Amino acid sequence: KDEVNIISGALELRKKTVSDVMTKLEDVFMLPISSVLDFETMSEIIKSGYSRIPVYEGGRGNIVTVLFIKDLAFVDPDDNTPLRTLCQYYQNPCNFVFEDVTLDVIFKQFKEGHKGHMAFVHRINNEGEGDPFYETMGLVTLEDVIEEMIQAEIVDE
Ligand code: ADP
Repeated sequence: KDEVNIISGALELRKKTVSDVMTKLEDVFMLPISSVLDFETMSEIIKSGYSRIPVYEGGRGNIVTVLFIKDLAFVDPDDNTPLRTLCQYYQNPCNFVFEDVTLDVIFKQFKEGHKGHMAFVHRINNEGEGDPFYETMGLVTLEDVIEEMIQAEIVDE
């Protein structure tokens, strides 16, 4: 029974897109690059439970880098380190994927590993009067794809 589920889930990967399974931007826990890594901010980060935190500048749609929880290992909350300083030091890249990319394609990219296991979902917005622009829709991780494949929720630790 489990095997049948996994096989049909694997076949479905070609039909579903990253926008079907992403975490929507409004639900993403993220930080402005102007944050200060004081006790309060660091507690919030730890409390969120996520291992990767998108960092934005200006609006939430303008993601500029990603903070990994492991980057905080040497940060002392008493130093009030600006997040920007840490981000400039690590310069973790962010990967983008178009909203209509299918799950088999993103799965292959995640597996190959050169793009990490998280990607931001975007699209080209040319609806308004002005010039077309990239619009960030959300984020997708390897876990989201695997959940589709096994057709079950993975309960986080
Ligand atoms: P983690 O290692 O932080 O637990 P996973 O890659 O296991 O992250 O993803 C678990 C779920 O959490 C996925 O549905 C993913 O889309 C979502 N997710 C990952 N990072 C964030 C974040 N910063 N804010 C909100 N949701 C996130």
